[in-house]
Amino acid sequence: MSRRIPFLILGAGPTGLSAAARLAECGAGEHLLVEKSDRVGGLAASFRDARGFTWDIGGHVLFSHYPVFDALVNSLFAPGAMLEHTRSAWARIGAHWVPYPVQRNLRHLPRGTAWACVDGLQRERENRSAPPDRFDAWAVRAFGRELADLFMLPYNRKVWAWPLERMGVDWIADRVAGVDLEKIREDLALERDDTGWGPNRTFRFPRSGGTGAIWERLAARAGRDRIRLNALPEKLDTDRRVLRLAGGGEVPYDHVLSTLPLPSLCALLLPSPPDSVRRLAAGLEYNTVHVVGIGLRGRPPEFLRGRSWMYFPGDECPFYRVTVFSNYSPENVPEGPYWSLLTETSASIHRPVDAEALPRAVMRGCMATGLLGEADEAVSTWTWTAGHAYPIPAADRDRRLEEIFAHLERRGVQSRGRFGAWRYEVGNQDHSAMQGREWADRMVNGGQERVYRGAAGA
Ligand SMILES: Cc1cc2nc3c(=O)[nH]c(=O)nc-3n(C[C@H](O)[C@H](O)[C@H](O)COP(=O)(O)OP(=O)(O)OC[C@H]3O[C@@H](n4cnc5c(N)ncnc54)[C@H](O)[C@@H]3O)c2cc1C
Repeated sequence: MSRRIPFLILGAGPTGLSAAARLAECGAGEHLLVEKSDRVGGLAASFRDARGFTWDIGGHVLFSHYPVFDALVNSLFAPGAMLEHTRSAWARIGAHWVPYPVQRNLRHLPRGTAWACVDGLQRERENRSAPPDRFDAWAVRAFGRELADLFMLPYNRKVWAWPLERMGVDWIADRVAGVDLEKIREDLALERDDTGWGPNRTFRFPRSGGTGAIWERLAARAGRDRIRLNALPEKLDTDRRVLRLAGGGEVPYDHVLSTLPLPSLCALLLPSPPDSVRRLAAGLEYNTVHVVGIGLRGRPPEFLRGRSWMYFPGDECPFYRVTVFSNYSPENVPEGPYWSLLTETSASIHRPVDAEALPRAVMRGCMATGLLGEADEAVSTWTWTAGHAYPIPAADRDRRLEEIFAHLERRGVQSRGRFGAWRYEVGNQDHSAMQGREWADRMVNGGQERVYRGAAGA
């Protein structure tokens, strides 16, 4: 058995790395990160393929709700090593490209359709019944029947791959742009665009190494020798405070942070949680995202040259989103005339996807939506499946989480991060990093944790 570690962290993604870096910064005592994969960064890791294209696990962009997180990122990069971008996001509705957010740029739809959307919004404004507590009904109330049917419902069905009537509405605040009907009318009449909404209207991206470069740098700060890669936890004995590793080896600890998906953590615990808690954790809902990256020789078509990403609600393609990844950094592609598209396709028990056949379906989808033409030459195809990709904000989620967290707290275990806290609304990189940091602060000086419970902003 190795010597006792004051702070044990399971998982070396953004949450675990931020916790470790904060502990190191506070001089809190020794920590150890145990990571099952062969690299740090978790879902925010990046990869370089054999042809020299860099890929993320889906289009990651960095934006932040927290000045401390900004300061952390700034401290990791020399000036110029982080590129700044203004979002250029679009939705493809039928054969039309509409700037995001769609509800604020209706003028890009045929006139009749656009004004029908406005009429739908007006009808809902006059609706005096109680506000809906399920996402599908909420979308109709917020956007009107026409716009909901045109974009909100088909797009969300595609991205979540989950029945929308089982999703709650508490997560929506800064994830879906609201509606100002007077302004929409005015913009439509005056043919004006309104594309500046949202926390990600500008975003940053590392010049080199993809999104994963952020977390590689933070790993260096947390101490490379304090990270054990390719190490699979087998049991977390919370009576003895000992982690048992697959293949032998035990790590005694004082405090433990888990960033694993909650059901995986529950399966590790010894003594095993009561059946009721295990069932609650097993019933937490999530989807899977299949990422297909296409590396291309040549130059992107004119209309894609300034674009960041595009949403696809339609059935003509399997993906829900495509990022023009070469636009994020010239170093995302090999030297020479190359460009790249990064596609994301969701799957779940409700929307199965044939992963093997997907790359071909993605190519067909790119042709059907005009992203690629016959003359485009794909020289590389990169695939990755994120088994746990989006934690679904199901209507009964918070009730489940309350009971699970109460049990974990009694066992001296904190679970944080995208799938450790299971709250989509605080599941981005900035939120996850803040959850890790707040945990470290609590361990070191009794600070209060707010973010993992859903406090999205500073
Ligand atoms: C498709 C997609 C697009 C996204 N886009 C954005 C974006 O644009 N902007 C943004 O800010 N965020 C984005 N995110 C979210 C971002 O990836 C997460 O915020 C972040 O990765 C969460 O960090 P984490 O440490 O909580 O979890 P993870 O990144 O999941 O890290 C958990 C770590 O635990 C390890 N682990 C799991 N099980 C075990 C085990 N049993 N034993 C040991 N280790 C284990 C994993 O290998 C992983 O390294 C996106 C996510 C996805 C899936």
